[in-house]
Amino acid sequence: MDDQTFRKAMGKFATGVTVVTTQFGEEIHGMTANAFMSVSLNPKLVLISIDHKANMIDYINNTGKFAISILNEGQKDISAYFAGQNQESREIDFNWFNDMPTIKESLANLTCEVHDSVVAGDHTLYIGKVTDIKITDGEPLAFYEGKYRQMQNGAGVN
Ligand code: FAD
Ligand code: NAD
Repeated sequence: MDDQTFRKAMGKFATGVTVVTTQFGEEIHGMTANAFMSVSLNPKLVLISIDHKANMIDYINNTGKFAISILNEGQKDISAYFAGQNQESREIDFNWFNDMPTIKESLANLTCEVHDSVVAGDHTLYIGKVTDIKITDGEPLAFYEGKYRQMQNGAGVN
């Protein structure tokens, strides 16, 4: 099985898009991730999966904490930026929440402490214990078949 077939199959799983952020010393770092899931209600745990090639790995290993910002439908540009798809570097005006940098105007912000981590192939899975949550109204940015999507009218399926 080749990598392209695997990615094509995984691309059939529609997801939202998040930006993972953390701070180590004076330095803030952010990266786009769609490998995010809810894990447990009691205690409240979430999971992210980070490629060993990503700079984010060292930041999280050093700080032991991270924040998740779930992007809204207007934040495709932020997603592309934090995926390293833009050439120019920007000054980002982060929103401070529970002493962590988060993305302004996103649908939800969660701050987390690393509860556990598991090396899984070429990624590390970080299970985060959720320490605080902020929720904002809006529609989500979706990712499907390697493309950004918008939900149509947010209508339910009967
Ligand atoms: P870098 O490439 O170092 O940083 C990303 C960009 O953000 C750079 O342009 C950098 O300059 C900028 N930046 C970072 N911090 C700041 C700051 N404080 N101020 C200003 N600019 C800043 N990879 C995964 O491992 N797991 C996933 O779940 C995942 N999901 C993805 C989903 C989508 C939809 C996309 C498009 C990509 C996804 N990726 C995922 C790939 C990942 O986002 C990129 O490979 C990313 O570039 C790797 O992160 P990095 O830590 O090396 O960040
Ligand atoms: P794509 O068509 O490569 O991605 C489709 C799906 O494949 C993703 O949603 C993800 O589930 C899976 N996938 C892609 N790359 C992966 C990887 N290296 N490890 C594990 N799963 C992976 O989407 P795209 O628009 O070409 O993505 C842009 C860039 O972001 C690519 O370099 C891609 O590798 C990367 N990306 C990485 C992950 C990840 O590491 N989990 C997830 C999404 C995108």
